[in-house]
Amino acid sequence: MNPFSYARPETVDEALRLGSQPGARYIGGGTNLLDLVKAGVEQPQFLVDVSRLPLAEVAALPDGGLRLGAMISNTDAANHPLVRERYPLLAQALLSGASGQLRNMATVGGNLLQRTRCHYFYDTGFPACNKRKPGSGCGARDGINRIHAILGASEQCIAVHPSDMCVALAALEAVVVVRDTTGERRIPIADFHCLPGNTPQIDTTLAPGELVVAVDLPPSPYAAHACYLKVRDRASFAFALVSVAAALELSGNTVRSARLALGGVAHKPWRVPAAEQALAGRPLTALSAASAARLLLAGAQPFEHNAFKVGLAERAVVRALQVANRPPGGSP
Ligand code: SF4
Repeated sequence: MNPFSYARPETVDEALRLGSQPGARYIGGGTNLLDLVKAGVEQPQFLVDVSRLPLAEVAALPDGGLRLGAMISNTDAANHPLVRERYPLLAQALLSGASGQLRNMATVGGNLLQRTRCHYFYDTGFPACNKRKPGSGCGARDGINRIHAILGASEQCIAVHPSDMCVALAALEAVVVVRDTTGERRIPIADFHCLPGNTPQIDTTLAPGELVVAVDLPPSPYAAHACYLKVRDRASFAFALVSVAAALELSGNTVRSARLALGGVAHKPWRVPAAEQALAGRPLTALSAASAARLLLAGAQPFEHNAFKVGLAERAVVRALQVANRPPGGSP
C-alpha cells in the first residue's frame, strides 16, 4: 500500500478546500475505498475523512420530499421513520445490501460512489482491465462474465454497478446534491452514473473536488405499492445478479403511473420510460407485467456466462410488480 496523507476536517468548507487539492480523495465509511486501496487498485495521495462532517441529518423538505444527508449510515437511513413511511422502496433496498456491520459503516454518499465488483478490476495481477488501467483491454469480455452487464455495455467494459440503494433512488427519481468550493450543484440520479462507453474509468459525473452532501427525494405517490426484489447467489451479503425496484401508483385497481428500475444488469441503474408507460391506465395483469419486463430488457446483449440474466430479470420484474400491486399489508 502506498503512503498517503490524512486529514479529518470538522466543517464542510474545510473539507472542500482540502478535497480540491491534487491527489485528494474523500473517504466516508471506507467500506469500498479501503478495499480498493489495500488491493492497490486506488492509490490516493491524500485522504480527506468526511465521516465527522455534520451531514448525517434526515430532513423533511417543504414540498413533501425528504433530504438524506450524505453521511447518514445505510442502517440509519433504512430505519428512519420518514424513510420507512414515505419511501419503503428505499428502505427495502438499503436493507438488502451488504451485512449489518457494513450497513452501519457505509454512508449514503459512499453508496452512490461504490465501484464495480468485477473480479478483474480488483485483481491488480491481471493485466487487462480498462477501468483500472485504461487501454489495457477487458478481461471479462472473453473471460468469466457471469456477473456482468447485459445492457449498456461497451467494447471497453461490461461491468455493472453494484449498489442496491441506487436502484431504488433511480426509481424514485432522487437528486444528488454536490458541492465544491464554488457552490452547489444538483444532479438528477439518472445523470449521476455513467455508462462505460470509451471511458470506463469514469463512473460518475462528479467533478474533481466535488463532495456529495445530500440526496433529495421528491414527494412520492408510491409508498403504498412498492417492492425491491433482489436475486442473488446466497440469501445475504451478496451482490445482486439482478434486482428490481418496482413502484405503482394505483387508483382503485388501475395503474395511474409506474416506476421500474433494474440493478445488476448495467453500469448504472437501468430504466426504460416506455416500460413504465406501458403499465399506466389499466389494471396490472400477468400479461401487462410481462410486456413491461420485455420492454425493460429490450436490446439486452448477454455474454457467454450471463445469458440467464435476461430471463431472470424478466421474471423478477413480473414478480416485483405483482408484489407491489398487493394491498398494503398483504402477505408476500
Ligand atoms: Fe475491467 Fe470493466 Fe472489463 Fe471488468 S468489465 S475487466 S471492470 S474493463
